[in-house]
Formats: sequence, structure tokens, C-alpha cells
Amino acid sequence: MLEVLRRIIQEVNGARSLDAALSIIVRRIRKAMQTDVCSVYLRNEEHDCFVLMDTIGLNSGAIGHVTMRPGEGLVGLVGQREEPLNLENAPAHPGFRYFAETGEERYSSFLGVPIIHQRRVLGVLVVQQREMRRFEEGEEAFLITMAAQLSGVLMHALATGALARLSDPDGQAMLSGVAASPGMAIGEAFVVIPPANLEAIPERAAEDIELEVRRLHDAIGRVRQDIRLAAERLASRISAQEQALFDVYQQMLGEAALGQEVEKRIREGQWAPGALAQVVRRHVQYLERVDDDYLRERAADVRDLGRRVLAHLQQESSTRPVQYPEQTLLVGDEISAAQLGEVPRKKLVGLVAARGSNTSHVAILARAMGIPAVLGMTDLPLSRLSGTRMIVDGHRGRLIVRPDDDLEARYNSLIEEERALAEVLEGEQSLPAETRDGERIRLMVNTGLTAELSSTLSARVDGVGLYRTEVPFMMHQRFPSEQEQARLYRDQLSGFAPLPVVMRTLDIGGDKDLPYFPIEEANPFLGWRGIRVMLDHPEVLMVQLRAMLRAAEGLDNLRLLLPMISSIEEIDTALRLLDRAIEELREDGLDVKRPRLGVMIEVPSALYLLDALATRVDFFSVGSNDLTQYLLAVDRNNARVAGLYDACHPAVLHALHRLAHDAERLGISTSVCGELAGDPAGALLLAGMGFRTLSMNATSLPRVRAAIRRVESHHASTLVEETLALPTLTEVHAHLFQRMSEWGLAHLLPPRDDR
Ligand code: PEP
Ligand code: MG
Repeated sequence: MLEVLRRIIQEVNGARSLDAALSIIVRRIRKAMQTDVCSVYLRNEEHDCFVLMDTIGLNSGAIGHVTMRPGEGLVGLVGQREEPLNLENAPAHPGFRYFAETGEERYSSFLGVPIIHQRRVLGVLVVQQREMRRFEEGEEAFLITMAAQLSGVLMHALATGALARLSDPDGQAMLSGVAASPGMAIGEAFVVIPPANLEAIPERAAEDIELEVRRLHDAIGRVRQDIRLAAERLASRISAQEQALFDVYQQMLGEAALGQEVEKRIREGQWAPGALAQVVRRHVQYLERVDDDYLRERAADVRDLGRRVLAHLQQESSTRPVQYPEQTLLVGDEISAAQLGEVPRKKLVGLVAARGSNTSHVAILARAMGIPAVLGMTDLPLSRLSGTRMIVDGHRGRLIVRPDDDLEARYNSLIEEERALAEVLEGEQSLPAETRDGERIRLMVNTGLTAELSSTLSARVDGVGLYRTEVPFMMHQRFPSEQEQARLYRDQLSGFAPLPVVMRTLDIGGDKDLPYFPIEEANPFLGWRGIRVMLDHPEVLMVQLRAMLRAAEGLDNLRLLLPMISSIEEIDTALRLLDRAIEELREDGLDVKRPRLGVMIEVPSALYLLDALATRVDFFSVGSNDLTQYLLAVDRNNARVAGLYDACHPAVLHALHRLAHDAERLGISTSVCGELAGDPAGALLLAGMGFRTLSMNATSLPRVRAAIRRVESHHASTLVEETLALPTLTEVHAHLFQRMSEWGLAHLLPPRDDR
């Protein structure tokens, strides 16, 4: 059964359109289950009903005509109850509704299961049979498994289908994802292609057909050469049978095979990588479907050869300068900090990616740069988006592809409103962040991007609360040397001097990879991350510490911060390394001072070690992003559970409240540098709990400052008291919104659909 299931999914996956996918689904399932009828109904959200989309067994004239509301008829019942319905005699069921056009009066037994994707009912899958019998347990289980597996594929087909229907230039499609960085932007999609990934190659018209054909043949020639060399190298070490495999590869690549077919597609107007990807996909799908192990294994070979040819095509095009549209919306499966950095800042207006969530590091970068972003768009049909006009709505987590004129005009006026608000708030930027009754909150900025202008910022903040050193590391091709780092840190320290700059030691792992130091793990956020990596590589940490100390010579505004601390031993080891670095530099004749040292409180174990930590370090910095992820056991980078990740979760708020009290008892200075501090309502809550220093992205400063300046300090403490009494996240959000509205601050909150 598993094999049948796998094949059907594979076939559906390869379908070029939603209709083709549905047709495969009904035909294959009917055959596998040997039933008389198999039908698929999809939910039409606009009209709130289930529509018969395809069937094999019922009259085909009923397709597109038979519709049922949730709860209406057996299909509507399955959709509403979100559970299977297995009936021996369907017409006898009180919920049965007869549709003459289907001809279903002939069928007695009925088994319907809902197709659910991330809690959303997408449709209902039904099998029916003449014979009066209850479907067996195994059959029911098969259909449930089928529906569960199909849901992701169907979701993708729906998204793609929505786009495919937009062949007329006035059509539009709306896709949703995770709102990862606020703001809205209109621009043109630029799809980032990861190296040698056939799935991500966009379809694009060839600009010069002859040139594309030449590029293809050059690339194939180079792969053939690579294979010849590999065969020669291995000649003495492999059997004649294995040698023969290399001949098979050469034949596959031969003029009469793959090459010819790809060339034909180019001549039809497709650019070389797009044509190659189409042909390889077609062959792979065919080979994976056949009932022959030998041929099925060849599918992997075709894919591999395709990747090799693609790699050569990309290598050649990587030497050509990339032309970014004037208003670039960067789109990709996953977008790295380096890719973000490659687009000229002036042209980059928005970001969209299939992976990631709202505290993924690419989201934090986007926020720091003030670029709207929608991430976690799992079902994004990348290959269709290149060059398309789109709107990115980073408040609501929405992507609108090919917007019509009305919608574009509406968004233009919303963008204008935001710009006007930003201008008003800009006027307050040099005023102190204090409540109406004079309670002062120190506002600091999170940095790490070269684009942040210390000259403008230093007049508005009390210093840098978090300098994420991993960001400049990501822009390099290797670990930057001590001198390179020292120069970078010096710029940052002198740019803000005499204000303090909190520099965090390299915090890689999790979702932050260095291209030259990849960390591959099953559970990256629970694995080799932050201080753990650094203590295992003291040579890297020592270079960094020395560079920071060197850079601070004569300035005296460096503060050091250690991330991901989960035990006291880690601090003790790090302290020994710091002492050694100071000693070494002093031996070299440098006048280095011992910087104040802090730890990030971002792992729950640290919450229970505060007393011991306070005897060893000078300050705490609360990483609410990670603290939320670890307290709630929700991967901050996983779009599937993005709805569960929220720093306003009552458990997180209680932990923070308790932490504020403990810090006060211990008399240790404590700031918050996670994203919660950059949210106007979050900032008021933190201030009400007693945190007096908040560090955030530069783009969050105006709204947070405005919120603080418009309340009395007792408002903030009452807000905390009231909020802590609420047991659910929904109530917390509703309450925060209500109070913010009463205080005339609702305009500072990002717009959301649910209010
Ligand atoms: C945090 O975890 O809250 C934090 C500020 O660090 P980062 O987001 O870089 O992990
Ligand atoms: Mg963190």
C-alpha cells in the first residue's frame, strides 16, 4: 500500500495544473481502492461551499455544478465535522441530499474524508460503491492517509492553479504566509535561484534563442567532459559493469537524447535553465512511475545530470552582472543574509520566501532594514513568479500577485498613510523616551548591518543594546581575520562613542549558517549553537575577543555579551578565555581595559540560575525571541507552528515579570533586546514590569518612543497587572489592543486582519 501511496503522491506532485492534479487523484484512488466512484470536492472560500471538482464514476456533467454548504449533504457534513463518514447505506442517512445530475442513486456505500491543510479544510475526498457494504477499516485508513498526504500537494496546486488562471494580465491572486516584517511595498519579483536546484528554476522567456542554445550545448559539453574524466580516474578501481554506467550517462547527455529535447523547448521560447528543468522534471516523473526498479533508479541519474548541466549554466551566468528591477521584491525558497546584501539597498523594497517565520533571522534583518517581508509561504510557486508585479503586505502576511488597478491604488494610499505617520513620528525622534510623568526608559538599538548610520542614530539612542556580530560574518567567504574584525568593530564603537555598545560573541547555529562553516543538524535550535560552538572552537572565539578588545582601545565603551548560556560552566570557561585574551594583548603592549560582561537570558535554565550568574557577570540582556521559542517549545523558524509562537503568550509574560523582579532583587542591570521590545504594546508591558532598558531595530524606535511618551507610568504597571491575569493569548492580544485604543495609540500598532 505504501508504494501505491507514494506513487500517487509523486504523480500528483508532478501535475502541471490543478485540474490535472485532481484528475490524477480521482483516477488513481478509484483504481487503488477498486471502487465504482471516486470524487473530489474543493472548498470555495468565497461562497463558503464545497464544489464537485472532478469525479470518475458520477456523471461528468455534474462537475462544477454540484455544490454543498458546510453541514449540507454528506459531503458538507464531512467538511463541517472534519472527520470521516463511512456509510453502508448512504441514501438512508438523514443528511443525504440527492443531486439528480450526478446519477449517484445507483451507489449505496459512501466513504468521505476531509482534506485538511494546517487546520484548514481544503475539500473532501469521496469513494462510493454500488454494493451495500461498509468500507473496511484498512480502506478507511488508506483514504485518510491519502487525504493527509495530498493536502500539502493540493495546497500547492491551488496556489499554482490560482496563478495559472491569471493568464489574462488583469487577473490577480492572493497568497498568504507569515507576517515577518511590517510595511507594504509594490514592485517586481526577482526570484533568487539557489545553485543547481532544478525545482527552483523560474520559467522565463529566452532573450536570445541562439545564445541560449549555445549556452546549453557548452554546458552539456562540459558535463560530458567531467564524466569522461571521472570515468578515467576511477577506471582501475571499479568493475566493468560500473564503468558501463558512465556510458549510459554519456548516452543520456548525447545530442539525440536530453540535449535535443531541451533545445526544442528553447526554440519554443524558454531560456536554457527553464527548458532544462522542464525536460528533466518530465523524464524523472515518467521514470519514477514505471514498474521497473532499474528504470526507477535511472530517475536519480537524470536528476543528477540535470543538476550538473544546470550548475555549469549558472556558473557561466554568475559572471554576468545581475540586473535587479528598480523596485525589487526578492523572492526565494529561503533567502540568506548574504543574498539580501547583494541587492542594492535603493532597489530592494520587499522580501518573500517559502521558508522562515517571524523571528527567523532573515526576518529580523528585514525589520532592521525596514523592508516588509512575508515568509513561510510554503506553497509558493517560485518558477511562475519571476518578473511579476506584486504587492507584499508585511502587516497581514499577504502576497498579491498581479494586483488589479483598484487594489494597487488602495495599497498606494495605505503606503502613503504610513509614510505620513513615519514623518510625524520622525519629528519626535530627538525627544527623550519618557512617560508623561517623567519616567525615563533607555532606548537602545540593535545593529549588525553596515547600512545603519551611527551618525543619525547616536543622537537618538542611549547606545547599542545588541550588535549581532554574526551578520558581518555571513557576508564573508571565510572567517574574517582579527584585523578585519577589529576594523569593523572599531567603526561601530567609535561611531557610537561615548555611548555603550554591547557586542555579542558569534551566535551561529540554529537558522544562522555561515556559508563557509555549515552546521547540519536534525534539531539545529537545540544543538550546536551560540556559545556552544564558540567554546568548542576557542581559536575562533579568541580571535573575536582579541579583535573586540583591540578595537575598544582608548574608547572604553565596549560591553561584551555571551549568547545561549544554559549553564554556569559555560560562563566560567568563557571568562577564562576572556582573561587570557586581555593578558595576551597587554603583553603585546596594548592598553586594554576589562569590558563589562553580560549574558543573554534566553534559555529557560538561565532563569533558574540568576543568582549564580549575577555573581559572575555585570548585566543581563533578555533574548525574548529565543526565550519564547524554548519556553513554548515552538521552533521560531518553522512556518507550520508560527501561529503558536508569540512572545505575548501568558507563560512568557509571567517568566519575564518574574525575571524583572529577580533582577531588581539582585541589583543587576537588565535590558530586553528581543523583538518584543520593539513592539509598542510589548514595550509598554516590559516598562510596566520594571525593565528600564529596551533595545530594538532602528525602524521600531519611532513607534516605541511615541508609545512611551503618551502614557503615564502607572498605565504601564496597571497594564501588566491586568494582562498577567489573562490565561490565553487571544485575551492578551484583545486586551492590549483595547487599552492601546483607549490611550489613542492604536495607530502605532501594525494593522491586522482580525481587528
Ligand atoms: C533573542 O533571542 O531574543 C535575541 C535577541 O537574539 P537572536 O534573535 O539573535 O537570537
Ligand atoms: Mg537569541
